[in-house]
Amino acid sequence: MDNFVELLSPGGNLEKIRTAIRYGADAVYTGYKLFGLRSRAGNLDKKELQEAINFVHKSGKKIYLTLNSYLFDKEFDELREFLYFLNNNPPDALIVSDLGVLSFVNQYTDIPIHISTQANITNAYAANLLKPFNVERVVLARELTIDDIRDFAKHSKVELEAFVHGAMCMSYSGRCFLSAYLTKRSANQGDCAQSCRWKYTVVEEKRKDMPMDVEEHKEGTFIFNSYDMCALPILKDIIDSGVKSLKIEGRMKSVYYVAISTAVYRKALDDLLEGRNIADKVDFYMSELNKISHRPYSFGFYLNDPKQYLESSGYQRDCDFLGVVEYSKDDKIFIKVRNRIEPGVYEVVDSELESKMLEIKEFFDMNSNKKSVGNPNDFLYIKTHLKVKDFSILRRCES
Ligand code: SF4
Repeated sequence: MDNFVELLSPGGNLEKIRTAIRYGADAVYTGYKLFGLRSRAGNLDKKELQEAINFVHKSGKKIYLTLNSYLFDKEFDELREFLYFLNNNPPDALIVSDLGVLSFVNQYTDIPIHISTQANITNAYAANLLKPFNVERVVLARELTIDDIRDFAKHSKVELEAFVHGAMCMSYSGRCFLSAYLTKRSANQGDCAQSCRWKYTVVEEKRKDMPMDVEEHKEGTFIFNSYDMCALPILKDIIDSGVKSLKIEGRMKSVYYVAISTAVYRKALDDLLEGRNIADKVDFYMSELNKISHRPYSFGFYLNDPKQYLESSGYQRDCDFLGVVEYSKDDKIFIKVRNRIEPGVYEVVDSELESKMLEIKEFFDMNSNKKSVGNPNDFLYIKTHLKVKDFSILRRCES
């Protein structure tokens, strides 16, 4: 399909990969326990990676694997072994930043390569230079405006992928040493401690024992704290600029975040690709995106107006994630509990973003013992005549 634009969702672990596919992603990106950024994202081991690749390919979708750390020479023997493994279990692409890794991967596999946003590619000349290295796609630096992307796409011989949703970084696409300096956790080895979001004081050179608060308000000062990106209202402009893949950030975010963000962008993208205007649906889509954990939204750099959020570094959301409806059978629905839940009336939302209110009077465990509450990781069923789609999300929202 000529006008195909891919929706690419984060797959921090097997459950999130399955959720992303079930909620409408065309492709997922994930990481192995080595060589990828986001070292705390619950990355997959080899067995899980095989399982993930099988699941995604059986669903007719694609899976990309992050190999986007900047490596040291001593790590290449292990990388070679891993590439042999991948040759027998190939994902659809490898996401690479480091030129050394790029050249090494070319030597040992034919798996197509996507250049990571971490490589800071900002122009078609750089992208085209990399094409002979089996590079099929560049993940654009988040610092480009829509006008920059349009210029880039006109001359690019490789596909372009752009972030449309998720956290931004105060530093140029993660080129930052703040976390490594303060915590010995390097952002460029996938272990950022988000030190930019902390509170800072000013110290005068000769009075180091007199740190002064730089107080914007009583909660502190967050001069390095970026807004999150949400490009949903300007999605058409991004697609029209020539981007072929829309990426949702957040391998470390919850299953709930993956489900709702994927479903919202799926519906909006389908509307746009089928020629429907989404103006009258933006409020609904944004209300769903406000129900997942986020910092205040902005358009990032797309309209040339990047912003820092100075009020706090905390997350906000309008709903609490309570659990996942795993399946229904004989007027019972079986729920994997994620956060403590008591009897009450809650919302169930499915992959089409259709929601219903579900009254829960009591819970039962798998031995049919009555339970008064559900606790995280409990697997419980409730009795109801309500028809609910498998893998729907159970949530409690502010009224
Ligand atoms: S500390 Fe902040 S600015 Fe630096 S890499 Fe991490 S998120 Fe980005």
